Amino acid sequence: MKLARVFGFSTDLAIDLGTANTCVYAPGRGIVLNEPSVVAYNTVHGRIEAVGSEAKEMIGRTPQGLVAIRPLRDGVTADFEAAERMLTDFIRKAHPRASWVRPRVIVGVPAEITQVERRAVRESTLRAKASEVFLVDEPVAAAVGAGLPITEPTGNMIVDIGGGTTEVAVISLSGIVFSRSVRVGGDKMDEAIAQFIKRKYNLLVGERTAELIKITIGSAYPSDEVQTMEIKGRDLVAGVPKTVVITDEEIRDSLLEPINQIVEAVRLSLERTPPELASDIVDRGIVLAGGGALLRNLDILLREETGLPVMMADDPLTAVVMGAGKALDEISLLREVAVH
Ligand code: ADP
Ligand code: MG
Repeated sequence: MKLARVFGFSTDLAIDLGTANTCVYAPGRGIVLNEPSVVAYNTVHGRIEAVGSEAKEMIGRTPQGLVAIRPLRDGVTADFEAAERMLTDFIRKAHPRASWVRPRVIVGVPAEITQVERRAVRESTLRAKASEVFLVDEPVAAAVGAGLPITEPTGNMIVDIGGGTTEVAVISLSGIVFSRSVRVGGDKMDEAIAQFIKRKYNLLVGERTAELIKITIGSAYPSDEVQTMEIKGRDLVAGVPKTVVITDEEIRDSLLEPINQIVEAVRLSLERTPPELASDIVDRGIVLAGGGALLRNLDILLREETGLPVMMADDPLTAVVMGAGKALDEISLLREVAVH
């Protein structure tokens, strides 16, 4: 990297390979790619037709023979081949410079993945033309990205709510003291909304519409203002398109279960945290990251349920990649946070 700096550029990349979105950061250039972790696969020709935003557009709209896959749906690489192709494609896009330049790459991985899965991520990244691969635990990267002083001997709690999973971690001296991962995140919220609308209104809505409803009027805790939204879907009985108007209160009720699971994961983690670190967390509070943390008033609910201060990372969606990127920029930090 030093040599590259002398010549005025760095070829390194930091990657957050999320279950819902992949972000890539390049030192000196900032975030160079931010796309959905989706692959469109042609089952007739056995080919990948599109990756990222283009593939996400196809979800629920694919013609026969074309399927949109989210290769990392549950936080680990559920569909390996597709994940690797996606990664290769993203690295190529993020790195348009001459293809002979092989970047050093740091990748955020879920804290609870196995050694086998870790090795698989490392090997895929190498096959995707990286010269050297560093892995960093996502909660550690998220904490760095959120500006927490993770290298100090003090407890920091980070809750990263992604698409497929929620990871709660207590970090001290650059390492994870406790972590817990539950398979609940934004996707489960979308599913809960779709199910509710189907049950109550006999209306079928796709996962993209459910996500839009969540982002537009979804919330975890009531606010003064009542919000409504007009939604279109297919009537299950009549089989024709129809429109209904739903309220924020209905959506909040439909989200109770996935949200409770997230609250429980936080509570359990607090119970399992060693006392010294727990007292640090009482003082410093809990930091939220991940796109799911953007659900309106989720921070208020967590504050209410835990009695602790709850803060949001500046940009929850990019905290992991910014943290990993910072490690690329600071070699001493990289040495502390890279895992094997
Ligand atoms: P991952 O790390 O698993 O890829 P992200 O951190 O990118 O996940 O978060 C993706 C999730 O965040 C998706 O479920 C998405 O619907 C959700 N999300 C994004 N913005 C909002 C918002 N404003 N309100 C609620 N959820 C949101
Ligand atoms: Mg993530």
